[in-house]
Amino acid sequence: MARYTGAVCKLCRREGTKLYLKGERCYKDKCGIEKKAYPPGQHGQLRKKLSDYGQQLREKQKVKRFYGILEAQFRLYFEKAARMQGITGENLLSLLERRLDNVVYRAGFAGSRKEARQMVRHAHFLVNGRKVNIPSFIVKAGEVIEVREKSGDHVRVKECLDTAEGRGIPEWLTLDKDGKKTQVVRLPERTDINYEIHEHLIVELYSK
Ligand code: SF4
Repeated sequence: MARYTGAVCKLCRREGTKLYLKGERCYKDKCGIEKKAYPPGQHGQLRKKLSDYGQQLREKQKVKRFYGILEAQFRLYFEKAARMQGITGENLLSLLERRLDNVVYRAGFAGSRKEARQMVRHAHFLVNGRKVNIPSFIVKAGEVIEVREKSGDHVRVKECLDTAEGRGIPEWLTLDKDGKKTQVVRLPERTDINYEIHEHLIVELYSK
């Protein structure tokens, strides 16, 4: 599957905000956007006023990059969110939060969503006791996600759990650090996503 393989800090600089794509480095003063708080490229430091369409496009790109999703799949999430009851933008964010790779990252088993995706692909996790190696798997309320027994001594998982403590875990998850398992106690709500996202702009973009 196609993946962006360029410098990820450039993506944060393009969107003008931290997207937390590089693990622990994102929480330190080595963060690329702290050093160069302007868009990349020759004309990056020129001030440009974005049109309404430009703002909508940038918001969509920001959320896609934040969750590490490509256009076609993102569009499918939007269509699914639009068919669900409730507010489309909030449904969209809830679906993205419930991806297994995001849950693994949020619970602290991985340093970034990219790393979480790789760990899931390498089948290090069980969902309700069953091996799942699909990063886009959507978790449900009540499900338990745990590190497989044979992966339990995975040094990286231990490191991540220690460093993720400062990050905190969202209220819709509980963490059993020693048992290396997390439970989805309820579905994520909009107020659980404390990241600056203007989802109505994405809805406006796709509703044209
Ligand atoms: Fe973005 Fe992380 Fe790079 Fe900072 S260190 S610019 S948050 S990817």
